[in-house]
Order: sequence, then structure tokens, then C-alpha cells
Amino acid sequence: MSNKNRTIYNRVARLTFACSFLLSAFAWSSDHWDSVQITTVPVADGLYMLMGEGGNIGVSVGTDGTFIIDDQYAQLTDKISAALTEISGTKPRFLINTHWHGDHAGGNENFGEAGAVIVAHENVRASLLVEKSIPLFNMVKPPSPKAALPLITFKDQMSLHLNGDDVRLYHIANAHTDGDAIVYFSKANVVHTGDVFFNGFYPFIDTNSGGSIAGMIAGSKAVLDLANDKTRIMPGHGPLATKAELQAYHDMLVLAEANIRKLVDEGKTEDQIVAAKPTAALDSAWADGFLSPEVWVRIVYSGMQK
Ligand SMILES: [Zn+2]
Repeated sequence: MSNKNRTIYNRVARLTFACSFLLSAFAWSSDHWDSVQITTVPVADGLYMLMGEGGNIGVSVGTDGTFIIDDQYAQLTDKISAALTEISGTKPRFLINTHWHGDHAGGNENFGEAGAVIVAHENVRASLLVEKSIPLFNMVKPPSPKAALPLITFKDQMSLHLNGDDVRLYHIANAHTDGDAIVYFSKANVVHTGDVFFNGFYPFIDTNSGGSIAGMIAGSKAVLDLANDKTRIMPGHGPLATKAELQAYHDMLVLAEANIRKLVDEGKTEDQIVAAKPTAALDSAWADGFLSPEVWVRIVYSGMQK
């Protein structure tokens, strides 16, 4: 992709993401869902990334069947299923949730009812069982029905041996939420990061759900440690990424955290920290379209140890 196209692409992805979060508390018209298109991005042999609205979906197809990572919104299940049929001709046998948010796990009930075994970190199941809210986006999720719940949960890590690969699931503690998982295809050298990584823009951190900038930094570092220059990285949001792009994102998080930490240590209040513009050097590259610098600084601050 050319730089110019990438810029335009990033901007559209960011705006789409912002809209999907900001509007998710309201009932969208069916016209809205009708207008969403699912794009299939080839990633490696038997591996694909589906982009529609919400989090990127990872897909593995092969002799053991189809399994997917995340499932976007319930209203998009038919379109996602159609895209999967085109790739593999089979329904998902396994479905991994990278975390509980509705733009990643909203299709759980539909895919669960269709027979997929849902796998996630134990805190994802715990979050789906109860009402959860994201005050920043005015979003409330009611307790999820049984078919939407993970049947298999893990605590620190687990492996799936599917479609010729050894697929490692690693929990990333207190990063985007308290239940994040990254999914590493060790043979294919592909990783799905969930929302530990937003490629190209400031990430939302759900501090209400146990997320923190420290966890985002540690999580992106953990992926960097797994990766080499040939690794293809499916981010939670934004286009398919390289290690260099993840490194730039990680460096941004480190700098933002350090600048805000310094002001916290000086005893500044939240409003004084916002007024000091601690991310000014980063904003032109990372704030475009989704989280404004002020909102981003407040999110980082709210998830920091004081
Ligand atoms: Zn999320």
C-alpha cells in the first residue's frame, strides 16, 4: 500500500472505529448494517483477516476446520459467515475472544448457537456473565445469554493444535481490559493482538475494566518479543501491521506514559496534566480521528498508579 493510500485508509479505519464505538449505545438502522462491507485480507497460507466494522477478525482454515478470532457485531454475523463460506465453505468450529467488548464479541451468541466452541480468558467469561459499561462511550452491555459464553477458559496461556499450526494464546494482564489475549500462530509467524495494539492511532484503554497504560506497554512489548521482521501482525483495529509499526506504537505508549508520569510525580492534578499537553509531540501522528489528545491523556491518567 502506498503511503498516501495508507494515510487515507488509516483515517477511514479510525473514523469507522470512532463511529462504531460512539454510536453503539444507539439502535442503528438496518441501512447502517446493510452498508457495512466485509473485506478479506490474505495474511498467510490458510490465514486471513476480515475487516468490517469493529475489531479485526482473524481466520484460520484447514483440515481441522475453520476457527476465528473475534466476531464483531451480532448484526454482521450473516455477512461474516458469507465471507467465511467464500474462504472455507465451513462454519467456525472454534471462536477465540481477545476480550469482552461488543465490537469484538458481539457475534458470540450467533456463532455459539451455530456450534462454535468459544474460547477466552477467564475474565472474559466473567465479564460476559454480568452487566458491563463503558462510561466514556455511554455504552452498557447487559448480561450475555448462555450461547454467547466461552465454554473453555484459560488463565495464563493455552495452546490449540489446529490446521497444522501450534497456536499459542497468551493472557496480557491489565492492558486494554483485564481479560486480554493475544493469539500467536507459531509456525505461520502471524499474531493477532486484540486491542493491545491499535495500528496507527491512540488506543482506547478500558480502565473501568482493569485496563492500564502499563499493561498496554507490557503487552505490546510481549508481542514485539515474539515477532521478527517477517511477522505479520493483525491488530485489534487498523490495517495489517509489521513489527516496525508495532514498535512505533510501543514507543509512543512509552513516551506518553513517561511524560504523564513525570507530571503525576510532580503532584499535578488531572486537569493540570491535561493543560500541560504532555502528548503534544505525539498528537499529530496518533490523535487523528479517534481519541482527542485530551481524552487520551485522561484515559492514560485514569489507568495509572498514583
Ligand atoms: Zn476493545
